[in-house]
Amino acid sequence: MDMNSIEEVVSTTDPAEWRAGDAWLAGGTVLFSYGSYAFGDEPLKRLLDLGAAGWVPVTVLAGEPAAGIELAATCTIAELYALPESLGDSGRAAWPALDLVRPCCDSFVASFKVWNMSTVGGNLCTSLPAGPVISLCAGLDGVATILGPGGTRRRVPVAEFVTGNGTNCLAPGELLRSVHLPASALSSRVAFRRLSLSNLGRSGALLIGRLDGDGSLVLTVTAATTRPVQLRFQELPDAAGLAAALDGAVPAGLYHDDIHGLPAWRRDMTYRLAEEIRAELSTPVGQAARDAFAARVSGDFWPPQIPPTTSSGTANPRQAVAPQTFPQEGA
Ligand SMILES: Cc1cc2nc3c(=O)[nH]c(=O)nc-3n(C[C@H](O)[C@H](O)[C@H](O)COP(=O)(O)OP(=O)(O)OC[C@H]3O[C@@H](n4cnc5c(N)ncnc54)[C@H](O)[C@@H]3O)c2cc1C
Repeated sequence: MDMNSIEEVVSTTDPAEWRAGDAWLAGGTVLFSYGSYAFGDEPLKRLLDLGAAGWVPVTVLAGEPAAGIELAATCTIAELYALPESLGDSGRAAWPALDLVRPCCDSFVASFKVWNMSTVGGNLCTSLPAGPVISLCAGLDGVATILGPGGTRRRVPVAEFVTGNGTNCLAPGELLRSVHLPASALSSRVAFRRLSLSNLGRSGALLIGRLDGDGSLVLTVTAATTRPVQLRFQELPDAAGLAAALDGAVPAGLYHDDIHGLPAWRRDMTYRLAEEIRAELSTPVGQAARDAFAARVSGDFWPPQIPPTTSSGTANPRQAVAPQTFPQEGA
């Protein structure tokens, strides 16, 4: 879409340069889809282009207390997808929660352009319920670093960054710089469930379970709700305990309502997927558990198919899609 109200594109990462009518430009997949009036009644006047930021997309940090992974806001979905493979077998073994990266990326309704251009920061700042990078980062207790116009810097848990459907905690002019994923969460065992009403469709419910080293469970509900909801248990609850906790944590009005799923359906699926996660994480670690994880990564609402697995043992639904063939010209 043309953005014919734009008077200037400024290459900068300095929040001090921001003024009313500006928007940070990352991959542009939202800005160039929705146009000049994407974010209100007033047209955008300038784009502050992060394209030349030069931020390292992924940084592995060793040593406490910062140990973990730092994702730059400008890290693309394609770069994020490559992360588990780039760490090798030993890296993946140390941080089994990296198994979440690929199914979360695969939860995108992403064309080639979205996959290669859109960014971690753009996904968080667009703040859609079905934002799969939000799901990933919230599920791993990611913490966002936000830069402000006066040289300020603050840190906000990703689970609190998104405040509603398309809303977040950023003040005008604030810039999301990066997200830190702590080693403690990356070391955890995880379970992933996702459902969509249509094949390769937008997520209607996306739940992540994380069993930490001390036996505690963190359950993160996204896509079903307008913002992430996190439930923490000191130990794995029983089925009734889990359902009761969901009753308390997710009021009816928090379930999202749009063409990708009615609130009542999203609520039912939240309870069902949460219980599946609880059951999966109750089984002993081993090949059976890994197989269960791999078999459940694609949650499209269609007859189950077991997708091929990658060398890291995780399923890759993208490979499961049969290549389309087109007739030769003149044939
Ligand atoms: C075909 C299609 C399918 C899509 N499917 C999905 C989907 O399944 N789930 C989903 O969540 N989204 C989806 N989207 C929306 C969008 O592509 C993604 O949310 C994407 O991740 C946005 O990233 P971007 O870098 O392109 O953002 P941009 O378009 O560059 O920016 C989006 C917004 O975020 C702001 N912004 C970007 N980076 C920063 C930053 N570092 N600090 C502060 N503000 C910032 C921008 O100013 C703008 O307001 C889809 C879009 C299309 C066109």
